[in-house]
Amino acid sequence: MESALQTLRRDFAGDIIEPGEGEYETASRSVLVVGSPACVLRPATVAGVRAAVRFAAGTGLTLSVRGGGHSFTGFGTNDGGIVIDLGFLDDVEIVDVGRHLVRIGGGATWGQVATALAPHRLAISSGDTTSVGVGGLTLSGGIGWKVRKYGLALDSLVAAEVVTADGEVVRASAEENPDLFWAIRGGGGNFGVVTAFEFVAHPTTDVFFGRITFPASEASAVLEGWADYLRTAPEELTSTAQVANPFSGGPAAPVEIRVAFDGDDPVRAAEVVDPIRRLGTVLEDDVARTPYTDILEEGAIAPPGIQILTRSAFVYRDSVPEVLRLLAEMGSSERSPVIAVRSVGGAVSRVPDDATAYAHRGAELMFLTTTVGPQPVVEAGRPALDAIWGRLAPHVRGAYANFLASADEDDVAAIYPTRTYQRLAAVKRRYDAGNLFAHNHNVRP
Ligand SMILES: Cc1cc2nc3c(=O)[nH]c(=O)nc-3n(C[C@H](O)[C@H](O)[C@H](O)COP(=O)(O)OP(=O)(O)OC[C@H]3O[C@@H](n4cnc5c(N)ncnc54)[C@H](O)[C@@H]3O)c2cc1C
Repeated sequence: MESALQTLRRDFAGDIIEPGEGEYETASRSVLVVGSPACVLRPATVAGVRAAVRFAAGTGLTLSVRGGGHSFTGFGTNDGGIVIDLGFLDDVEIVDVGRHLVRIGGGATWGQVATALAPHRLAISSGDTTSVGVGGLTLSGGIGWKVRKYGLALDSLVAAEVVTADGEVVRASAEENPDLFWAIRGGGGNFGVVTAFEFVAHPTTDVFFGRITFPASEASAVLEGWADYLRTAPEELTSTAQVANPFSGGPAAPVEIRVAFDGDDPVRAAEVVDPIRRLGTVLEDDVARTPYTDILEEGAIAPPGIQILTRSAFVYRDSVPEVLRLLAEMGSSERSPVIAVRSVGGAVSRVPDDATAYAHRGAELMFLTTTVGPQPVVEAGRPALDAIWGRLAPHVRGAYANFLASADEDDVAAIYPTRTYQRLAAVKRRYDAGNLFAHNHNVRP
């Protein structure tokens, strides 16, 4: 590898960071996982990405492609392999004001996007955290505060520039390489390095955003009423529910309903949010008019040794009452993980299941558990977590790739139903027959 690296060094547009160099420690870790790669390549141009991909392919080593570095599985780094860090490719450019067409570098974060679009009163349906990457979030879905009105992040994507496994640059859109365009909207990082995403952004104003809390003793009724209301609520409303937050008292913690009303009319916002206030005894209510950029939270880097174990699944209409009943019950246990439920439906469900490789359009809710703590504590809690998921199993389906801390065959099968997987595998054979891009929820060629 050393001589190939020397050749690469001659005209590489970007940084090459090796063990022992000052920057290596930060460059080798992703947000949630510490790695020890043989080298980190940080290309500054598309030509640099092409050279990096060809170099990585030539070494035969594991390749990680890092966008924002927030993968719960730690896909953005590895031990002994190559990391291509897209951090320098973070431009956000409005290329067509009239059409709200925005071109975003493959290594940009959602905070950068929100800040760049705010002066133009535009936004893209994305996630809830500024530091999360446009790359990872979009390629596997993107469930954020505008999801019921504008759909997943990938639903606003109209084209992408992709460096494939052989180092070629191709464009993917409805007209050009439509098979690749279908696959990158849900198929994760399996098909190449996306150096630029083109989105159609949405007009935005301030939003009404905040938290309404209810006593833990009312969890069952509040959750049931919440899910019923969201089935018919106006799509300007997106909402999440959380029980048993260990950071606010564990089992005794209030039920937290977060609401994001996409609009700045206070009368309309009250009309849409009030049915949630009437679900039980309101303890706190801080819903207020807020600029959209301010509702995105800043992510934090997990300190070394701290493990974050995330698992997710989708809930379809028939199972909603049973899952919410179990959720209220599980929340009252001392050993409960953080349990959160996000409303989906709305615009997400209007896109046909097979229009993109994201295959869980019919779900009403996305359910996730998160366990955080020192590694031995998280590991000790695994049997209890498995028991929770064992009880949920008959009532939930699939998994959301972006909220999974593991990547075994069962995970991949949960993300991609068989027909989706087979179609993805056919596209993989065309663009990455040697499976260079394998450090992800992997689709085998
Ligand atoms: C604090 C936090 C908050 C979150 N909030 C939300 C949320 O609100 N909604 C939601 O849907 N998800 C959320 N997520 C999950 C998030 O979407 C995933 O972790 C996602 O994978 C992060 O993308 P990334 O680019 O930051 O990560 P990375 O680790 O860099 O990448 C993740 C995967 O995508 C691939 N990838 C990234 N960029 C590219 C690219 N340009 N080209 C090719 N492949 C690429 C990588 O190779 C890797 O396989 C959150 C995660 C965290 C840690």
